[in-house]
Amino acid sequence: MNTARTVAEVRAAVRAARAAGKTVGFVPTMGAFHAGHLSLMRRARERSGFVVVSLFVNPAQFNDPSDLAAYPRDERADAAMAGAEGVDLLFAPEAAELYAPGHATTVIVRGLSDVLEGAARGAAHFHGVTTIVAKLFNVVQPDVAFFGQKDAQQALIVRRMARDLDFPLAIEVRPTVREADGLAMSSRNVRLTGHDRRRALALRAGLTAAERAIAAGERDGARIAEAAAATMRERGVAPEYFALVSADTLEPVDPLAGRILVAVAAPVGPVRLIDNVIVDLTA
Ligand code: AMP
Repeated sequence: MNTARTVAEVRAAVRAARAAGKTVGFVPTMGAFHAGHLSLMRRARERSGFVVVSLFVNPAQFNDPSDLAAYPRDERADAAMAGAEGVDLLFAPEAAELYAPGHATTVIVRGLSDVLEGAARGAAHFHGVTTIVAKLFNVVQPDVAFFGQKDAQQALIVRRMARDLDFPLAIEVRPTVREADGLAMSSRNVRLTGHDRRRALALRAGLTAAERAIAAGERDGARIAEAAAATMRERGVAPEYFALVSADTLEPVDPLAGRILVAVAAPVGPVRLIDNVIVDLTA
């Protein structure tokens, strides 16, 4: 596996792969790899002749400077893991390579960026995401890009951006990979110790409570959210939000019908965690 630091190096490597008749798969990441990232790389390897993974902790999408400062970074370990998955090229640029002085362009997906995580973290978070993903799509020019359902709203926003701006690529969203006890894998989990690691299971418990209530026939979203939040509080965690919305538009649905995204965010010790499930009521 090669590591590229510049846009020019990525373009040259992709051009050579295309000249050899290979399709290009792309996995954008912020590093600190866990099994969730590796599942995306494995899928990209299955589907593409040439696999590019980007590793860039994008300052523009952090609303909290202390979160950015504490974000785990270990490029050497990441490179070893990506290499073991058969990744062809790791693109790990410095910030200055992607944000030249005077950078003045932002890609904004209106509406979808303003709710849930956008409301909690500020809309600038997703503006930072869409701007960097648009840039990376232009640099790598993949046939397929892979995203995790763990960040359901992000995946939806990126899909909308790619459609609206006619990016010539497919987007594949892959299932959330979890620890054995149900905690969604996240780079931030390494900062959870002892008591907080146990409390982190409250998010999954809240989602499960909501799934059970829906399975039992409840269709009042507000009632389900309140019961799920109570389940979380019993485990010592107060949700920042617990939402049941359309999985396609992120708009409230009352009574629940269609494909529902059940999404939760909560602070646990030093970190802020998110998780979600989709419940399909179309049948
Ligand atoms: P990040 O490095 O956190 O920006 O994540 C890079 C990609 O990995 C994004 O598409 C995430 O949605 C995806 N991802 C993160 N955690 C998981 C997980 N537990 N399961 C599946 N995909 C994940």
